Amino acid sequence: MRVRVWGARGSVPAPGPEMNRYGGNTSCVELTLASGETLILDAGTGIRTLGFSLPPDLARINILLTHLHLDHIQGLMFFPPCFRTESIIRIFGPSSPEASLEARIARYISAPLSPVEVRELPCDVSFLDAPATEWEIGGCTIRAEAVTHRGPTLGYRITDRDATVCYIPDHEPGLGTDLAELGSEWISGFDLAREADLLIHDCQYTDEEYPGHEGWGHSPVNDTLTFASRVGARRTLLFHHDPLHTDGFLDDLHRTARRRWGELGGDPEQIAIAAERAEIAIGAVPASAPARLAV
Ligand SMILES: [Zn+2]
Ligand SMILES: [Zn+2]
Repeated sequence: MRVRVWGARGSVPAPGPEMNRYGGNTSCVELTLASGETLILDAGTGIRTLGFSLPPDLARINILLTHLHLDHIQGLMFFPPCFRTESIIRIFGPSSPEASLEARIARYISAPLSPVEVRELPCDVSFLDAPATEWEIGGCTIRAEAVTHRGPTLGYRITDRDATVCYIPDHEPGLGTDLAELGSEWISGFDLAREADLLIHDCQYTDEEYPGHEGWGHSPVNDTLTFASRVGARRTLLFHHDPLHTDGFLDDLHRTARRRWGELGGDPEQIAIAAERAEIAIGAVPASAPARLAV
């Protein structure tokens, strides 16, 4: 599987010269499966540029949404395949007793916020509640589970042949508790992330910033690493960068995280930080996959 980051920012796009290396686009990750099929995780503003990179004749597109906060759906209306009649787009997301997934997304893709209504999109688009049990797309198996954040939010576990990726971009598993001491059955997202080859996880705050942000739905470095350690993740990609964090700040945050991981007994090389356009190869990759880039 090949993992490519198109947006790693959390909360709101944060473009600017001081953000150039990590990027300002919000959450979007592309998975290319060993079968060659594409899966897209979240539709933040990064999905716009991803859309331009897809082969124009690619008909079937699957998007897994963790939740409907704007930083995870804002790019949908600017995703080029939405405007092609040949596209068949399936969008999975969290269910809600309040309204269907389509009706909730249509609050954004409708007047006065948008010049287009969902029903006017020329593509063949369907909105589906993520199944409660494991399901398959393009030869991989997918599991979705609710995780601790604000509002109905899913994490995803995707297994493709010998490789497993866990994606939990917005997550506060340590809220009101000490993750190091908590029984694993009480840790949000534990089974989703257990022994994942790559854990893509919220790391919005430094430990110094976290006080005052408890309950906002995001993790400080220490909780991200403790969670990664408890679940036995083989590699962790720090994700959902705070819009205030510049390139230099994120370099420092990455250094701190690697040092702490070493103190926890891990190999610092296992801790990477997400930057736009970075690629990671895990297990079997499609024959056409470009060379692996370091992150
Ligand atoms: Zn978010
Ligand atoms: Zn969120």
